Parts: sequence; structure tokens; C-alpha cells
Amino acid sequence: MKKLLLSSVLLSVLFVLQANAAGGVAGKVIALDAGHGGGETGAVNLTYGVVEADVNWDVVLALEAKLKTQGAYVVVADRLSTRRDRVNDAVAGCASLDIDKDGVSDNRKCDVIVSVHHNSPADATNTTHDGTLTIYTQRSDKPLAQALLSALTPLTGNNEGLLNGGYGMTVYKNLVSSITEAYYITNDCEAELYLYSKGTTTDISESCKDAGYQLENRIDREADLQIEGLANYFNSQSSGGKGGGQPN
Ligand SMILES: [Zn+2]
Repeated sequence: MKKLLLSSVLLSVLFVLQANAAGGVAGKVIALDAGHGGGETGAVNLTYGVVEADVNWDVVLALEAKLKTQGAYVVVADRLSTRRDRVNDAVAGCASLDIDKDGVSDNRKCDVIVSVHHNSPADATNTTHDGTLTIYTQRSDKPLAQALLSALTPLTGNNEGLLNGGYGMTVYKNLVSSITEAYYITNDCEAELYLYSKGTTTDISESCKDAGYQLENRIDREADLQIEGLANYFNSQSSGGKGGGQPN
């Protein structure tokens, strides 16, 4: 009997450990912003007419659904005209959550806000360039931006690094934030993969396959990698990684 009890205790400890390792986003309040929209296209793939705003929105919806199944609380910012309005909307959304279901808003702060974008190069007629980068504003955003960059880079295999700038409006609300540019939507293979992911087409060009692009649901894969990055970020924060880095 004792043995049985012990093994069931061990089993539940193992289960909790596993859940912690896999569930870095569980219980977190995560705000998502789909870049552009509301009449603003963002980057446009000239060959296929794929519009960045649509890609951003699809990734955010996939991400929202997947995060919720992993126990996160998700707020999707309205696609208001200015970045400041979007941040205000996200902050209000996080504050209005009633997580303990007592009928009263919990007044929670968003743990992070991630703004999902897809890039275009300075020369928008370049249909072959691809790469992954993330953008941070304050030093406190850097661990999040780095975790997302590391997780997302396998999409393109081309790490274009961390940029400083971007989401300045979060500074006054003291939110940890990052903008992700998981790939270049101006790239024709990326546009083809997007159309494939939407079920609009059933294949991508042989030249794209030759270039190393895999036939996959790119929307789902990016959402999975975004979650991997978020989970790694939260795990590193809870294991004492907070504030450990020196400015550089
Ligand atoms: Zn954008």
C-alpha cells in the first residue's frame, strides 16, 4: 500500500514537472496585436498580391487558439488606427479579464504583448530575400525578443538579429513587448506557402522546394514556434534569469 502511495506521489510529481517544462505559457496573460489592418495593408507580395495584414491576422488567430489550449489568457488587440490605441486596448483587455470567475475584473497587467508582423525589404520588388528578426524597445524587452528570435529563426534559417526601435508606445504602460518579423512576405516562396496554408493552393513551386522550403501549414508552424519562444521566455524569467544580463 505504501509503495503504491509512493509511486502515485512520484507519478504526480513527474506529471507536475512535465507540465511546468511544457507549460511555460499556462496562466500567463498574453496580449496579441496583428500588425496593420483596418485598411492598412503593411507589406505586399507583388507576385501573388498577398497582404501582410492578412497574414498577421491569421497567425494571431492560430496563436490565440493554441495559447488558450495551453492554459494562457489571451487578449487580442482591436486593429485600431494607432499603435497607442492598440496598446491601450490590449491593456484594457488584460485588466478586464475575470480569471477567477467571481464576476469582477481582476485588473491584471498583460505579462507581455507580442505584435505579429511579416517583413519587406527596402526594395519591395525583391521577391527572394528571406530572414527572421524581432524588435525590442526597452532593455527589459530584450529577453522576450531574443527568445522569440531564437524560436522563429528555423522558419527561414536566416537570423537577422534583434533590432532596437519599434513598439515605443509600450514604454508608458511599462509592458514587456516585442514585434516579430518571422519572415518576409515579399518572398514568393513565403507567399506560396501562405496560400497553401489557407487551402487556396495545393502545392508550392519546385523551385521553392529546391530552395529548402517545406510544404507545411506555415501559419500553424509559426504559431507553434511563437509559443515555444514565449514558453522559453517565461521559463527563463521564473528560473531566475530575470535581469541577469548586462547591457550591451
Ligand atoms: Zn508590418
